[in-house]
Amino acid sequence: MTEWIALEEQLYLRVAKRVPRVLVRGEGCRVWDDQGRRYLDFVGGWAVDALGHCPPPVVQALHEQAQRLIQVSNQFYTIPQLELARMLVEHSPCDRVFFANSGAEANEAAVKLARKWGKRHRHGAYAVISTLGGFHGRTLAMVAATGKPQYQEPYTPLPAGFVNVAWNDIEAIKRATTDDTVAVLLEPIQGEAGVNVPDEGYLRAVRAWCDEQNLLLILDEVQTGVGRCGRLWGHQLFGVEPDIMTLAKGLGGGVPIGAVLAKERAAAFEPGDHGSTFGGNPLACAAALAVLREVLARDLPAQVERMGQYFSARLRELQARWPEIVEVRGRGLLVAIEFDQELAQRVLEAALERGLLVNAVKPTALRFMPPLIVTETEIDEAVGILDAALAAARTGARPSS
Ligand SMILES: *Cc1c(COP(=O)(O)O)cnc(C)c1O
Repeated sequence: MTEWIALEEQLYLRVAKRVPRVLVRGEGCRVWDDQGRRYLDFVGGWAVDALGHCPPPVVQALHEQAQRLIQVSNQFYTIPQLELARMLVEHSPCDRVFFANSGAEANEAAVKLARKWGKRHRHGAYAVISTLGGFHGRTLAMVAATGKPQYQEPYTPLPAGFVNVAWNDIEAIKRATTDDTVAVLLEPIQGEAGVNVPDEGYLRAVRAWCDEQNLLLILDEVQTGVGRCGRLWGHQLFGVEPDIMTLAKGLGGGVPIGAVLAKERAAAFEPGDHGSTFGGNPLACAAALAVLREVLARDLPAQVERMGQYFSARLRELQARWPEIVEVRGRGLLVAIEFDQELAQRVLEAALERGLLVNAVKPTALRFMPPLIVTETEIDEAVGILDAALAAARTGARPSS
């Protein structure tokens, strides 16, 4: 293991602090490292591994598709892509699809679509309002949309036309709206900011404002989509529909794919306006089709709702035992606990020692994004490990490596 870690230090551009484990295998909600140690995975590839690790339906779909056709240019029609488009449109409020390879790329395409629409329908309006703490990806334009100064400052000047306003504050959106505004871009629940669920009524108020002002509402469902929050789409929790929505993370069940979905009224692209070499290639689409079929056939959103309630209830029991936990929040299987102090890294390390992977989304919060197929037994095991990890972390006793 240490040799691999040394190699990374020598070879990589340093963009991420990693957890010192080399993972070599996965199955369901478990992964194994190169020392043969087993972990319960409540990071789930950052809400990507919707069906768990190496889910048989995805493995089989990849295997079959890889033997048939892996990639052709998007000048041609391919059946997995068309079938996936049909399935997404049938099961969403949107009418048209564009395929990309990641969340950031999907959001870029969504903003380009909104700008094109603004040229046609809103006197050339181009500016996008997004929220502080929101996360939309790491390309230059999405860094401008992502309201996090630490992600923006190293890269100025950023592309113009993005305004970041307070989250969960409809008046802030109203104040920021000008003749140049074309769209509001939001996550239904802020994920990377620490799982921030908006107040009841916020998204409905934003929707009403967009309708009144003739703005597009772009919902970034990269993290909240595909069942994660106990509905197929996060926006269903809040009784609103987007004009444009973006997907990635869970859609491919671990295979890179992103998608932009748009209602007919927002579908302003014309041939030549946008494109992608790999976006929607048959292999990725076969994986996403297998994921969506499984999510729908097993009604995983309903199961996620039940398991999410169970998990949150168990975390509230922990909260009753440990006064350091000041809040349990989230929806479905996108959940966080907030501490009254910077405990997240210590709890992460203590949990790691005991065989549980978690995400320290902030110095004061842990985020949990287990596969959508997680069971009660696995949740119990995770909560048991967290309990022990909290006991270890709060005494300040550092586990031996
Ligand atoms: C992860 C994430 C992105 C970025 O996705 P990438 O695939 O890493 O580009 C965008 N928006 C949200 C809400 C995300 O959680």
